[in-house]
Amino acid sequence: MFGGRTALLLRGLRPWLRVEPRRHRDSFRDFTKEFDKFRQKAKGILPGSDWTPLPISRDLPPEQADVVIVGGGVVGWSVAYWLKRNEPQSGAVRVVVVERDLSVSCLSSARYAKASTVLSVGGIRQQYSMPENIQMSLFSANFLRLIDEYLHVIGQPPVDVQFNPSGYLFLASDETAAILEENVKVQRMEGAKVSLLSPAELKKKYPWMNTDGVVLASCGLENEGWFDPWTLLNALRSKAISMGVYQSCGEVTSFTSDTTEMVTQDGEQIDFSRIKYVNVHMPNSTEYASIQCSLVVNAAGAWSSKVAEMAGIGTGPPDSISGVKLPVEPKKRYVYVWHCPDGPGLGFPMLIDTTGAYCRREGLGGNYLGGISPTEEEEPDIQDLEVDHEFFQEKVWPKLAHRVPCFESLKVKSSWAGYYDYNTFDQSPVIGLHPLVDNLYFATGFSGHGLQQAPAVGQAIAELILDGKYKTIDLEAFSFNRLIKGEKALERNVI
Ligand SMILES: Cc1cc2nc3c(=O)[nH]c(=O)nc-3n(C[C@H](O)[C@H](O)[C@H](O)COP(=O)(O)OP(=O)(O)OC[C@H]3O[C@@H](n4cnc5c(N)ncnc54)[C@H](O)[C@@H]3O)c2cc1C
Repeated sequence: MFGGRTALLLRGLRPWLRVEPRRHRDSFRDFTKEFDKFRQKAKGILPGSDWTPLPISRDLPPEQADVVIVGGGVVGWSVAYWLKRNEPQSGAVRVVVVERDLSVSCLSSARYAKASTVLSVGGIRQQYSMPENIQMSLFSANFLRLIDEYLHVIGQPPVDVQFNPSGYLFLASDETAAILEENVKVQRMEGAKVSLLSPAELKKKYPWMNTDGVVLASCGLENEGWFDPWTLLNALRSKAISMGVYQSCGEVTSFTSDTTEMVTQDGEQIDFSRIKYVNVHMPNSTEYASIQCSLVVNAAGAWSSKVAEMAGIGTGPPDSISGVKLPVEPKKRYVYVWHCPDGPGLGFPMLIDTTGAYCRREGLGGNYLGGISPTEEEEPDIQDLEVDHEFFQEKVWPKLAHRVPCFESLKVKSSWAGYYDYNTFDQSPVIGLHPLVDNLYFATGFSGHGLQQAPAVGQAIAELILDGKYKTIDLEAFSFNRLIKGEKALERNVI
């Protein structure tokens, strides 16, 4: 643990700390740079296998761990997997994943009733505007291609995520064509294979399409399509558990932290804290278990701002760094499945209309699924996951039937709703350490594309923890610091 050594290092930091968080947020960058130096020194003291080995009961988590991951969705399990894969020697890092949405025995993954992972539509694309997002999805596409090499567990069947290699087809109107063209330039520079199509070319390639109002389109030629989210989640989970990750059923309800005061050269006081214990409410009981830990990862998806609050984040005075909240909220999104026997066949892509409505094939029996993100005024209540069927009739169907006229006649077969882990600040993820809670990492806020980015994000967080820096993809643009500085990481292609 960092205990006395941390205190020693922190005392050593004081002379060069220059920070006035309330008055001059610009100086924040200098301050974080200096604090990074401290982290570099502090890294390497994960106690790992030096923890006193304790008998572990099946129902209780271990009493101590190096890394506790809050949230066992695809992101949490990916972080756990990469930590074990990249640990310097087997057993060096003790990792616990705490998940509340599991069946009580913890033996099966039968529940996951609300996790976004299992309620997503499974898409992966490289058609983004930010190089970081393109790189993450390229990494994930390669991971999915080699998934059995990464995630195979001896004695279990090969992992098959049922990848459908149908590209995304983005349609642009007069207003959005120039942006689409700019995005494609960036995508190509990052190594994505994307083609541009004129309306005439579109009509030739997709004769079932009404191209009215379409000025330009872009089509992913490889590494795009959709896959089975359950299989990816279960494969990451099984592999991580086989590598020694401990899974704990229960809800993280609070943290116990140590706070260290620092005084700047100008006499201002700043409080840094470290989470020492993660407190877990055990399912169907009044019992709590406390896990003493070195580091915590907030991978709680749509609920991650609640977890951040437990660490005091966003609870300080409004104009201070500790007053900056993690702006991630659950936003409800509907998915509808319909049957249209005369609809387009195998070559039907993941179609993103000029209106934002999307749809894709679901199998080959004339079934399709789709939806649209509601406008701010239309945002539904998030108390439950009920589906609004009129939303399909009024907002989704007319748009899709206009674009794909054979959808004028269809039969809705089923539907579901899930929560986006939506970043209300800039719709981009928040990844990396918090500047004041200095052992809390974030991997959240993916706003509709976290499934496909999970393999890359898991690797990135593992690098930050084990190596103190990003090695594969630089995700600094998504750090918490941008929220403090008010600088948006704007991705233009959010669906
Ligand atoms: C309708 C829909 C369609 C989507 N389509 C796509 C798509 O095509 N492609 C794509 O890439 N992404 C898509 N997404 C987004 C994607 O599903 C999410 O970004 C991704 O699954 C986030 O993964 P996660 O592990 O962070 O969150 P989750 O899967 O929600 O996991 C977080 C877990 O944390 C647990 N948890 C929360 N708080 C606590 C606590 N206090 N204690 C213990 N456990 C806790 C929850 O129970 C939950 O299981 C879609 C999402 C939706 C809703």
